[in-house]
Amino acid sequence: PLSKLSNVGTTIFSQMTQLANENEAINLSQGFPDFMPDHELLDHVDYFIKKGFNQYAPMGGMITLKEEITRKIENSHQAIYHPDSEVTVTAGGTQAIFTAVATFVKKDDEVIIFEPAYDCYEPTVELFGGVVKRFEMKAPDYAIDWTEVRNLVSDKTKMIIINNPNNPSGKILKENDLQELIKIVKDTSILILSDEVYENIVFDGKQHLSIARYPELKERTLLVASFGKLFHVTGWKIGYCAAPKALTNEFRKIHQFNVFSVNTPIQLALAAYMKNEDHYNNLGQFFQEKRDFLRKGLAGTSFGLLDCEGTYFQALTYDKISDKNDFDFASELTINHKVASVPFSPFYKNKRNDHVIRLCFAKKQETLERAIENLSRL
Ligand code: GLN
Repeated sequence: PLSKLSNVGTTIFSQMTQLANENEAINLSQGFPDFMPDHELLDHVDYFIKKGFNQYAPMGGMITLKEEITRKIENSHQAIYHPDSEVTVTAGGTQAIFTAVATFVKKDDEVIIFEPAYDCYEPTVELFGGVVKRFEMKAPDYAIDWTEVRNLVSDKTKMIIINNPNNPSGKILKENDLQELIKIVKDTSILILSDEVYENIVFDGKQHLSIARYPELKERTLLVASFGKLFHVTGWKIGYCAAPKALTNEFRKIHQFNVFSVNTPIQLALAAYMKNEDHYNNLGQFFQEKRDFLRKGLAGTSFGLLDCEGTYFQALTYDKISDKNDFDFASELTINHKVASVPFSPFYKNKRNDHVIRLCFAKKQETLERAIENLSRL
């Protein structure tokens, strides 16, 4: 093969967005807001650029931002990270995930993932010679059978990747899940990569149970989060990895040769903006209104609504409308009905087809209204 990932295609998110654009469809596929971020945040960026903060940031990130990050984690999860030695600012969640895997996964190491799994986990593990072991969560409830997960563990298990809240299913982990995970890793040297980029988008008064809350997990975890999701700026590509000092030390050895450091004025702007906690504490409520609007609008249609506990994605079944596979159905929906979605099957190695598609509701009211109107015609 020409490259190490010759067998991999273009991500489903790029594919569906392209199809949406070609067909002038309402794009509820790739997860990004179609509304403006807060002007106050934009003003901070403008200020720092014009003030002259336009050169390299320190390799691990600007200290003011790292302090705001650790304050946020402490306030939300009562967990302490040292801003200078335990937080690294990254060029988005994906880069943090890539760097974490690159740092720790060696040839023949086994990595456990939960499917439907965000599409970068598996290729990244394989790029570094790791072997993926998977547990399939299935529609409609996407529950985890921890006995089966335990059976995937061997003396080669290097890492377990969890994604909570889960993209694409919208499921969140419960206390019982975390307790089971604690039992599995106890007395092992297994690392955890915890992708929590949707941590602030949890609904119905439920609580996001971050890994950071559990000392037995925190000590072995690389915790990944994203400002793109937190402040409606996915195009800024900025996030972070929080991890105990010894893990952060190793992580940064790769980070320094991968991106070296991240956009300076934006880091300063985020730090200034985060001083006011109201800027991130009400995100769940904000998106819950959008979720409820979409669900209410689709309730009378032929689509089935699966539970959505978190993230800005609503999963839909379409058995009453078509028996096509989800990829063909999503393509048809984009071309003929002008609503782009993301099928679930690309999130499974075996392309498992439960006839489920995902709609992103991080959109203006009018965008959601137009989508509901089109979907009501099916
Ligand atoms: N996280 C986004 C989603 O799930 C996509 C990010 C990307 O396009 N790489 O839609």
